[in-house]
Amino acid sequence: MARREEKAAWVGNEARPECRFCQTAGVKNGSTRHGRQCWRCPACGRQWSLGPDRRQVHPQVARIAERMIRRGMDAKLTAELCGVSRSWVYQQRERIGVARA
Ligand SMILES: [Zn+2]
Repeated sequence: MARREEKAAWVGNEARPECRFCQTAGVKNGSTRHGRQCWRCPACGRQWSLGPDRRQVHPQVARIAERMIRRGMDAKLTAELCGVSRSWVYQQRERIGVARA
C-alpha cells in the first residue's frame, strides 16, 4: 500500500504514462524523429514512446476487426477473436459509422 501512495505523489496534475516495468510515472524525455513524445522512467531508467493517439492495436488486426465490424459481427466476439478490448471495437464502430447494436 505504501507503494501506491508513492505512485500517487509522482502523478501530479498532468497525465503521465506509467513505466510498464515498475509502474512509476514517466518523465518527458524529448521526442522521436516522428514527433512522438518520448518518456523515461526516473526509477529504472527505461525509455519508451507512445503514439500520438496511443494506438496499440496492430494495423493488420485493425483491418480484420474492421471487416468483422462491417459485417455486423458482435462487438464482444470481435474483441475476443482479435484480442482487443470491447471499448476499442466500439470506438472503431463509431469511426466507421456502424450503428451500435
Ligand atoms: Zn521503471
